[in-house]
Amino acid sequence: MISFKEKFLSNPQKLSYLFNHVMIGCEILFLSFFIVSGMTKVEHIEIINFILSIIGYFLIYKNKIKLWVFTLYFNILEFMTLSTMALGFGYGFQLYTVSMIIGAYYIKYIGSKFYDNIINPVLVSVLATVSYFTGYTFLKIHGPMYELNSGVETGFFIFNSILVISVLVFYMAIMLKSIELTEKKLEHIAMFDKLTGLYNRHYLLRKIEELSKDDLSDYWIAILDIDNFKKVNDIYGHNCGDYVLKKVAETTKSLCRECIVCRWGGEEFIVFASSGKCSAEILKTVRYEIDNLMLEFEKQDIHVTVTIGAENYSPDRSVDAWISKADENLYFGKTHGKNQVVYIQQNIK
Ligand code: GH3
Ligand code: MG
Ligand code: MG
Repeated sequence: MISFKEKFLSNPQKLSYLFNHVMIGCEILFLSFFIVSGMTKVEHIEIINFILSIIGYFLIYKNKIKLWVFTLYFNILEFMTLSTMALGFGYGFQLYTVSMIIGAYYIKYIGSKFYDNIINPVLVSVLATVSYFTGYTFLKIHGPMYELNSGVETGFFIFNSILVISVLVFYMAIMLKSIELTEKKLEHIAMFDKLTGLYNRHYLLRKIEELSKDDLSDYWIAILDIDNFKKVNDIYGHNCGDYVLKKVAETTKSLCRECIVCRWGGEEFIVFASSGKCSAEILKTVRYEIDNLMLEFEKQDIHVTVTIGAENYSPDRSVDAWISKADENLYFGKTHGKNQVVYIQQNIK
């Protein structure tokens, strides 16, 4: 099923079509009413508006959304002013001011993801307010151009009120959905590493912070560093390096299902788990499996190994000191032949 996001938020054309349908619907309705009521002064203007909305379809089709937004706003502004002057405030056409202003800010928010300077909401607000008071002043001085029976007035007032409220609810629903989607995206960016899809360093540190000393007593941490990775980049290229990083991440994650596996930075990863859930013995399997990975990039076989330094939690050490100790173990492994797991200074290859 096509999601809401795909249908509207990522496609301004679809949204524009929807609005143009609503515009055309309203215009047919109003035009029919003006013709039946013999309101020739507004009737002619409404015909121009109707033609403008038809041209709107062409503009949307040609992806000239900025121009379409301009004609749409011109259309509504002029229609609202004229209808209010023709029939009075009792018909509710002045209510469009509210939806115009909120709509302008909405279009600015959604539209600016795709277009520069799509609309100036402050200018729209000023114009809508001027239109509102123009109608008011005209009615104070001259009164409405046409007097119809009060039943028609009530019908219009209800219709216009529902129309404006519906438009507001629609704007707000889309705004909310859009904000929710953006927040989700940001949350994902804040938690995950883009290349490997693993958790990132910030997520891991936050997770550790959330645990008390007592909770941590059972935990171990391991730093995994790809051996001679610079050479992989130098010999096979950076894209191949990225491919290797993804494969090492994938292998580690699939083996350490009960652990938090994160990309610590560069070609270093951290595995973090409680012994209750996952023994640090798993690190031997990780080293072995990576050593035996059959990697192929652009028809070239690639072999990589990793060195892992691991350390248990100790309450008399800070988290930083704990990680440093694991790093020291890693360094020990790096300086003693690489491709091994060093856990509490014991080589458990
Ligand atoms: P050692 O065995 O001592 O760990 O040596 P090494 O070559 O793996 O370590 P070194 O720190 O000298 O080099 C790490 C390299 O990792 C250098 C850097 O360009 C590369 N690197 C870091 N991040 C990325 C990345 O996202 N993609 C790729 N392709 N390379 C990366
Ligand atoms: Mg390194
Ligand atoms: Mg390395």
